[in-house]
Amino acid sequence: MSTINSIQQNDGLKNPWAVDHPAMLKLLQTDADAGLSAEEVVKRLRSAGYNKIESGKRISLAMVLINQFISPFVLLLGIAAGLSFFFKEWLDGIAIIVVILINAIIGFLMELQAEQSMEALKKLTRVPARVMRDGKQIEIPSEELVPGDILFVESGDMVTADGRLIRLSQLQTDESALTGESLPVEKLVPPLNEQTALAERANMIYKGTFVSKGNGYAVVVSTGMSTEFGAIARMVQQAEQAATPLEKKIAIFSKKLIWITVALLVLIFTAGLLNGKPFVSMLETSIALAVAAIPEGLPIVSTLALAYGMLRMARHNVIVKKLSSVETLGGTNVICTDKTGTLTQNKIEAVYIHIHQASTEIKLDLPNQSIHFISNTSISNAPAYHHLGRVAALCNTAYFDLDGKGETESGDPLEIGLLKMAYCAGINRQDLQQLFPKIDEVPFSSETKIMGTLHKNNEGYYIAAKGAVEELIARCTSVLEGSEIVPLTEEKRNQWLDIAEKRAQSGLRMLAFAFRDEDVIPKDFLHQLTLTGLIGFIDPPRPEVRAAIAECKSAGIKVVMITGDHPATAKNIAVQLGLAKETDGVIHGGTMKHFNELTQGDKEKWINASVFARVSPKHKLDLVTLYQNEKMVVGMTGDGVNDAPALKKADIGIAMGERGTQVAQEAAAMVLKDDAFSSIVLAVKQGRAIFENIRKFVIFLLSCNLSELLIISTASVLNLHFQLFPLQILFINLVTDVLPALALGVTEAEPHIMQRKPYPSETPIIDKERWTAIFVYSIIISIACIGGVFTSHELLHNQEGWNTELCNNVLFYTLIFSQILHVLNMSFEKGIAFYKTEIFKNRYVWYAIILCIAITVLSFLISPVRKVLDVSIYGWNDWTIVTLFSFLSFFVIQLIKRLRWVI
Ligand code: ATP
Repeated sequence: MSTINSIQQNDGLKNPWAVDHPAMLKLLQTDADAGLSAEEVVKRLRSAGYNKIESGKRISLAMVLINQFISPFVLLLGIAAGLSFFFKEWLDGIAIIVVILINAIIGFLMELQAEQSMEALKKLTRVPARVMRDGKQIEIPSEELVPGDILFVESGDMVTADGRLIRLSQLQTDESALTGESLPVEKLVPPLNEQTALAERANMIYKGTFVSKGNGYAVVVSTGMSTEFGAIARMVQQAEQAATPLEKKIAIFSKKLIWITVALLVLIFTAGLLNGKPFVSMLETSIALAVAAIPEGLPIVSTLALAYGMLRMARHNVIVKKLSSVETLGGTNVICTDKTGTLTQNKIEAVYIHIHQASTEIKLDLPNQSIHFISNTSISNAPAYHHLGRVAALCNTAYFDLDGKGETESGDPLEIGLLKMAYCAGINRQDLQQLFPKIDEVPFSSETKIMGTLHKNNEGYYIAAKGAVEELIARCTSVLEGSEIVPLTEEKRNQWLDIAEKRAQSGLRMLAFAFRDEDVIPKDFLHQLTLTGLIGFIDPPRPEVRAAIAECKSAGIKVVMITGDHPATAKNIAVQLGLAKETDGVIHGGTMKHFNELTQGDKEKWINASVFARVSPKHKLDLVTLYQNEKMVVGMTGDGVNDAPALKKADIGIAMGERGTQVAQEAAAMVLKDDAFSSIVLAVKQGRAIFENIRKFVIFLLSCNLSELLIISTASVLNLHFQLFPLQILFINLVTDVLPALALGVTEAEPHIMQRKPYPSETPIIDKERWTAIFVYSIIISIACIGGVFTSHELLHNQEGWNTELCNNVLFYTLIFSQILHVLNMSFEKGIAFYKTEIFKNRYVWYAIILCIAITVLSFLISPVRKVLDVSIYGWNDWTIVTLFSFLSFFVIQLIKRLRWVI
């Protein structure tokens, strides 16, 4: 029996909350500090399996294949085949069956491909887990967690397995996903009563919940389907993925088409019988009509276009998690973005120092471990400067080291910037930490905008604090002037605020620093502080953002900066990036009223503003609500735990891949792997392109099908000597329609796609303008095909009388080639020649065209196929006419597009 099996037999594991944690560690044969060894993990993984939730309704391959046959289209074809057999048209019957099979196989392969793309994307959004293994803390894919692993979690992390806590600091979790309880749960370590209910097991953490505060270590007790979350998943079994709005639109649309076809069928059938045509020939015509009308490829081509779009975005660092978001993206008309890291580079560098009555710009010289004081070198001797350096190094959770192998750094870029400054100022952080061991910490939060640490030293206690200038100064009662601590009067306070404001206006990010000495351990230590100085940082804008914002403007998308930074800094960056004008106002979070108290005037002010500063995450939620009430489609970025509600509420929640917490990434519909604003714009562009592509192939398929309908109806109503046969139509629909349509689905965005306003979400795939175009295109194609037959008859075969088979063949091939060429008509960019469009440049379109022609030629050369299709060999003159009339239809359509009669 393997270790894990014998462990799992143990009763203690059934109620891990009732066992004290050293016993639990023993039970799971693991070590709190070292964790498991690599060999042990391999063994445990083999017996416990991967830490994954199996989605209950995983459709098997066989089901995917069977699903291909469950469609009204196959039903109609099945009836057609049945009737053919009934009337002893064996060849037709068998051929229809073969076509059904081929169609099913294409559908099956495409669906498989779409499924694979989705799987590939899922892998990209995997949640990592931090564990102790072989004595080191490492990051692993959470699927590889095993019972006995020592898991570390901190604020913002998703919990990825069930664990018994062994050590923690201020740990709180949000367990609403599991228990429905929306308040955070305070965690602890001691054992609990065996009967404790799930929601009250405070010494456990559970898969599917997330950490809202603090951090902790837990020993993993169960993984995958054995977790509480797994048990629920097993009970509920995951719902099927809902169809996207677009897929729904297409389904409704296809149904309508079927009804129209049935109505047309009945009409023509009755008219034919009344005209005295034989029943069997009318039946054949009706079958042809039914087959002609249905755009078989539609649903699968649209799913594939969406899935392919997602993959393409992934290549550009944008992970879209839901298929439906791809569509929403294209309609986005306001993007709310953070400043730090999204618009700026997040390479934060200290460049300015201010202490009492002295300030200077500074330049760090890392290789030589020194600071150049540009205008005031005497600062380096002032006591305030020393406190500044000390607070910078102590009140800091980042890591920075410079050794022979180069720089190593991790943590908040602003804090890394501070550590670099302290390093250049000659402060040895490790020595300092030994002299001043940390005994408590008030972590930084976007709400309070400050951070503080409490340290012990020889004389007593030392408090180090830093934060947004106005927030920290509000907690200071004195200031360090020279070597004296004097009261911070109102006048002095304002002077300091003025200095910070002025620097912020020039784009610097200003931070204030304070300290306090204490004899006894203080309770609430972030009060009555002594202000020691200010440090200014630069965080240059990302170079590509200006162009991206300009692109948004021309695309009718409003860009709004929502930042926790100072209004003046925010404004400076906004002006640099072309996001706001010098004269524009900035809305300060402090002045933002509660949502329910907003007057109409306030609302208008908010809607018109483009910079919001010193905001907290709650304001983000209010802004999303406001924009949505105005029927805007909102994209909102976020990275923190508290951003999750706004990310969920926005039409497109956008989380940061580098800076963002796991919770934000979980809540968002889209994750930016590189955190860059320009990637959002790129995604919007892709979203628009996908919608356009879907429109393109729907127009293409419908105009092709309609032209077939028109030809059959005309031939039938006018009693012409020729007609299209069901098998020929099937051949056309399968060969000349589906392949080019698939290629259209992956066309690149047209160059002007970002120069028009976003479409409202209710925009139909086919509006009036496009319906008109479909009718006009199909009329032209039909006239060209029928015209081809008449020309061939009049010019070449007049003496021979009507040769029905020849007429049919000319009709058939003219239709095939017209439709193949018609794919090049599918660009709707105004005033661009067809050979300059993205469709012409799309190599897949050319592959499709070549393949279609090759199949057509092969089908003509292989005699059994030729027989099935009812075609025969005839002269070059006829081929010339076929070619001329196919091109004629293409050029006439091009001409009327040029004349702007249709789009
Ligand atoms: P954005 O919202 O665009 O990312 P931001 O990074 O400035 O901007 P927050 O992280 O909420 O927003 O920070 C708000 C303010 O808090 C900052 O302007 C700064 O003054 C202060 N601040 C930021 N990081 C720290 C930190 N680690 N310690 C103390 N104060 C900080």
